[in-house]
Amino acid sequence: MPSVTYDKATRLYPGGTKPAVDALDLQIEDGEFLVLVGPSGCGKSTSLRMLAGLEDVNGGAIRIGDRDVTHLPPKDRNIAMVFQNYALYPHMTVAENMGFALKIAGVNKAEIRAKVEEAAKILDLTQYLDRKPKALSGGQRQRVAMGRAIVREPQVFLMDEPLSNLDAKLRVSTRTQIASLQRRLGITTVYVTHDQVEALTMGDRVAVLKDGLLQQVDTPRNMYDKP
Ligand code: ADP
Ligand code: ADP
Repeated sequence: MPSVTYDKATRLYPGGTKPAVDALDLQIEDGEFLVLVGPSGCGKSTSLRMLAGLEDVNGGAIRIGDRDVTHLPPKDRNIAMVFQNYALYPHMTVAENMGFALKIAGVNKAEIRAKVEEAAKILDLTQYLDRKPKALSGGQRQRVAMGRAIVREPQVFLMDEPLSNLDAKLRVSTRTQIASLQRRLGITTVYVTHDQVEALTMGDRVAVLKDGLLQQVDTPRNMYDKP
């Protein structure tokens, strides 16, 4: 069973003349890293936000596993999302930032500590757990934002241009880190970028959007072979 199904999912913004995302049909397999790519305004963020429950769906449906989530609020979708401006809480340490959602959810301290430590190990953040975000580099902060998302063990992980605030060199290394982290966790991931190189180097498959319409979905390898 696919992990995520867009079934003719459509978003027409109020006052819009044509849908920002038009009857999107797309299945994302369990554990897959799918990249949504295309120029600015093609509907990438809208597609992601519909899956997250942050944007109304005006036609069609969205399923996670066999659950129809089309009209469920974000908190009931078992999804975590990392944005480009990964706003960490400045007054909290890295560990507190990463454990915060679990604390709110009432998870006990020992369990939070164990999950935070495990995520920190995977993300190479162990030595920074007691620091405040301002004492970290941009790449480290980005990893804290990812850690904060994965400690909740979501079923689906969403990233919207997570590297756009990093400089070019850091972007390349963080790209590799995110891809290998995703493979280690095996978590179904939808990743939005306008950068074709990023899409082709990171994705198991790449979905190309243009003017709200899905143009092509294929593996990077097949895309190179038949451009
Ligand atoms: P992308 O992420 O590919 O840049 P978006 O999903 O943000 O594209 O936008 C797709 C289309 O929807 C664009 O034409 C954009 O102007 C329009 N759009 C996005 N957000 C809104 C909104 N809140 N209200 C009206 N139109 C919007
Ligand atoms: P509070 O006492 O207000 O809950 P804590 O200082 O205990 O705040 O930290 C908040 C959360 O972050 C706690 O749930 C704790 O388990 C976790 N935490 C704090 N420091 C560490 C650390 N060094 N390693 C792993 N987890 C930590």
